[in-house]
Amino acid sequence: MDIETPINEVIEEIKEFGGDAVKFCYQCGKCDTVCPWNKVTNFSIRKLIREATFGIPEVELEEVWRCTTCGKCPQECPRDVRQIDDVVAMRRIATEYGVSSTLLKPVRSASACLAAEGNPLVQERSKRADWTEGLDVKPFTEEMEILYFPCCYVCYDKRLKEVATATVRILNKAGVEFGILGTQENCCGESIRKTGNEEIFKSLARENIKTFIDNGVKKILVSSPHCYHTLKNEYPEFKANFEVVHITQYLHELISEGRLQVSKGYEKKVTYHDPCYLGRHNGIYDEPREVLGKIPGLELSEMAEIREEGLCCGMGGGRIWIDTKMDERFSNIRVEEAVAMGAEVLVTSCPYCIDALEESRSGLNYEDAIQVKDITEILQEVL
Ligand code: SF4
Ligand code: SF4
Repeated sequence: MDIETPINEVIEEIKEFGGDAVKFCYQCGKCDTVCPWNKVTNFSIRKLIREATFGIPEVELEEVWRCTTCGKCPQECPRDVRQIDDVVAMRRIATEYGVSSTLLKPVRSASACLAAEGNPLVQERSKRADWTEGLDVKPFTEEMEILYFPCCYVCYDKRLKEVATATVRILNKAGVEFGILGTQENCCGESIRKTGNEEIFKSLARENIKTFIDNGVKKILVSSPHCYHTLKNEYPEFKANFEVVHITQYLHELISEGRLQVSKGYEKKVTYHDPCYLGRHNGIYDEPREVLGKIPGLELSEMAEIREEGLCCGMGGGRIWIDTKMDERFSNIRVEEAVAMGAEVLVTSCPYCIDALEESRSGLNYEDAIQVKDITEILQEVL
């Protein structure tokens, strides 16, 4: 890193955050062979780990923000090094030392808006529930079956609001008693934590937990695997345990219980993209595929890198706020692959993945060749 951080402090911080794992790295390089960055450019997590461990200054500061936290390299490491924890620890140190770089300008802007308005999109809190206009959505009350916690992007982004609309129509159709907390919600804080801003993460998480408790929330439905991961696996750090369900799990449950009937066919060739935070980080691979399998006429074909080997879309780890050069986008590879196999629809179940895949689809001029959809958008068409 080109900051004057005493390396001992870095190592101590990483040990505190990531345990003793760093000292066991023996530089075999297996992590680099699976890292998606090496499909598009050169990036070595091995070198970052070496720098953190031994203080060998060989990497640029900006390399510290490359990792998308996709979870692929920890699966391969023979020494159980916790690369993601180590990278986040480096980012925390850099953030605490006030490191600045033009690359991080959008991250600073997202941080400021998260602190002021509870979302990273530079939008007003008062408009957080505007997406519900014209839909049958009630404010959450304690008697309801479930709270729908949509994700900031699903609340504010024009394309992603379609996911919220599809979700609501499905829930209404199944007769689910659900509500939202609207302007009381904050961002879950997952991505800002991965950029190293622990302070804002903690503040968002504490406020959300208080809001959930004050409103008598017990079960939470989410659209985003990033919200799923944080609410389910990280909020318990604050001694808060809610039942958290991702929409793919809930759709599977509603169909299995007969509450949701698939009545129409969907005569299209479809392929499914595994979101890292749904798949690798949380092991949810079967439910989305089983839901798609219930739709008559839908022909599901699989791409080469799926399930545990799934290719990252490139938006995790706070990269959603950092500009990635067009020829370095992993999502381009995904869209190219889906088009080459003749898929008419590339379906996924994560707002970040949809954002990345839609950008690649238009950037590569594939608008007429393929559609990108959330699983809820397909399902609403066949109910
Ligand atoms: S795979 Fe593990 S042990 Fe090998 S270089 Fe990477 S972090 Fe080190
Ligand atoms: S977690 Fe993913 S993006 Fe990050 S270094 Fe490992 S393989 Fe690369």
